Amino acid sequence: MEEDYFKRERENMVLKLISEGVLKSPKVIKAMLTVPREVFVLPQYRRQAYIDTPLPILKGQTISAPHMVALMCELAELDLGHKVLEVGTGSGYHAAVIAEIVAPRDSKVKGKVISIERIPELVEYAKKNLEKAGYADRVTVILGDGTLGYPKESPYDRIIVTAAAPSIPKPLIEQLKVGGIMVIPTGNRYYQRLLVVKKISKEKIEIRESIPCVFVPLVGKYGWRDSMEYYLL
Ligand code: SAM
Repeated sequence: MEEDYFKRERENMVLKLISEGVLKSPKVIKAMLTVPREVFVLPQYRRQAYIDTPLPILKGQTISAPHMVALMCELAELDLGHKVLEVGTGSGYHAAVIAEIVAPRDSKVKGKVISIERIPELVEYAKKNLEKAGYADRVTVILGDGTLGYPKESPYDRIIVTAAAPSIPKPLIEQLKVGGIMVIPTGNRYYQRLLVVKKISKEKIEIRESIPCVFVPLVGKYGWRDSMEYYLL
């Protein structure tokens, strides 16, 4: 019964995102129709899981709004078999959507998602959610500073950063494959722009600006020094 309710809610959300022009490609649409967002939100927000808004999770962080997850996946031009680095695991929801695109269960071609989170409680939270939703085999969650990337698994076909950076962290550019795409919100506390960064050659990147957005801060060596530096701006 509850399952039917959430399935209907999920379908309505996807129809809305298609009508708004956010969702376009069949593979992202299928992923958004498949991943159960209600599993990734805190229990008290389950009924609001398909409202198109960010919701609080643990430690003052948020699960991103569905339209932002959908848009970032579209802008990244994710494809079957890609190896993707996500910076900012949070609840694990976005990582599951990425996994559903690059490594769907019914495909022989298997991509991979590596997701880094700096807050230990969220690493545990995301791992539990991913296990419950059936993505633990396709998403590896790592505790660490994602501004340093994760060299051990590099280079990546795609990098998706889900926290606001003051500028594009150099290690992430280095760890992106030539021809690869990174999507990253960049700016200050009040205002960021989603940047779509394409690595043209070892030395050259091309940057395209997408929509304005507001994310929680990316805190780390190549991000904000701490949350206060970001909040005092
Ligand atoms: N993608 C998440 C989801 O689907 O729930 C939402 C992410 S939330 C908007 C941003 C996350 O980035 C927070 O959980 C925060 O702790 C994390 N974060 C911030 N700076 C980070 C860093 N340097 N490395 C890894 N994670 C970081």
